[in-house]
Formats: sequence, C-alpha cells, structure tokens
Amino acid sequence: MFALSKTHHLAMVTPMHWKCKSLPPSVGEAEIRRLAEELHVTPVTVQLLLLRGICQREAMHRFLSPRLRYLRPVGSWPGVDHAAQIVARAVAEGKRIAIWGDYDVDGITATVLAKDSILAGGVVAVVNKDLCCGCQGCVQCCPFGAITYLEQEAKCEVNQALCKGCGTCAATCPSEAITLLGFSHLQLYTQIDEALTA
Ligand code: SF4
Ligand code: SF4
Repeated sequence: MFALSKTHHLAMVTPMHWKCKSLPPSVGEAEIRRLAEELHVTPVTVQLLLLRGICQREAMHRFLSPRLRYLRPVGSWPGVDHAAQIVARAVAEGKRIAIWGDYDVDGITATVLAKDSILAGGVVAVVNKDLCCGCQGCVQCCPFGAITYLEQEAKCEVNQALCKGCGTCAATCPSEAITLLGFSHLQLYTQIDEALTA
C-alpha cells in the first residue's frame, strides 16, 4: 500500500492486518435465521449483533427497538436531584433561565420539553380510571416510581407528590387515560412531533 508523504514522495506504509471476530460457536446458521425472522431483520444484522456481544434475543430486541421503559430511572443519574433543586429555586425566585440542548433529535426534544415544563410549572399527571385498562405500562415507564397499580380496582393511580410531570406515562399509555394537568394529549403529542420534525 502506498500513500503520499508530506514531501509528496511515495512512501511505503505498513499494511493493516484486519482480524474478523468469530461468531459464538453455540450459534449456528439455523439459529441466526430464526432470530432474523423473529426480529424482522436480515441474518447479517443478527451476525453483527452477535459480533458486538449481543447474543440473547431480548437484548437484540432492546438494541433494535429501544423503549422508554428501558431507560435508567432519572432519579439514579448522578447529581440530578441537586440540579432539580437549582432549577426549582430559580423558578421560585423568578430568575432568568437559559436552556441549552445540542442540535439533534434528543437534544432539541429535551430542550423543548424542559422549556415547556418550566413555563407550565407544577405539572402533574392524572389517570382517568374510566379509560385505564390496567395494563401497568405506565408503572413500568415512570422514571420516578410515581404510579401505583391498585389491585382491587385493576387501575393505576398517580402519586402527585412524586410525579415530576415529565409526561413519559401520558405519551406511552395505550388508552390515552393519562393527562398532564395543564397539557392536553393533543398538545403533548404535537409538542413531541414538532420537536422531532424541527
Ligand atoms: S398505561 Fe394507561 S391504561 Fe395502562 S395502566 Fe397506565 S393509565 Fe392504565
Ligand atoms: S408524568 Fe412522569 S413522573 Fe409523573 S407519573 Fe407520569 S411518568 Fe411519572
């Protein structure tokens, strides 16, 4: 292999030696085809996941189809409580707040939601039990553990003292049973859509 040196002379460079990782010996061609069919991807995609060390079907599904419920609980992020206190104090004192987000999908979305949450102030979720089907999806996705499943009623309920008004539950509820006080579903979805298409 040749390349131009700084002095524009042809110089010999050491050729690269690439080594392909081997697929796990326990996963044969039939298994790869089966996983590809189940996950609706090509066998090559399954092979790539295997080579990345993602070997179980569930782990592959999580990688290919990430869901909000797979996120780490927000409360476990280092320093998040302290940061929230600073913002809450600034809101209470009427201080000017600058929100910065990077210019990609998650950055813009987070910026818009943070701005609207701060402007709305004190937003909490409520469950309309007439619409709730008791699937408990909201319990699993709430990053603050603010939703409880009531066994006797087979419905869910929001603990408003714990709710941070993030809107995750409302966006994922299949029955549209959850509303954020101060936001309608249409407003919430429109905001997310606008943020994603900005
Ligand atoms: S996600 Fe919606 S329908 Fe399911 S339990 Fe929660 S409130 Fe009820
Ligand atoms: S709005 Fe956020 S914090 Fe409040 S109950 Fe829903 S998911 Fe939990």
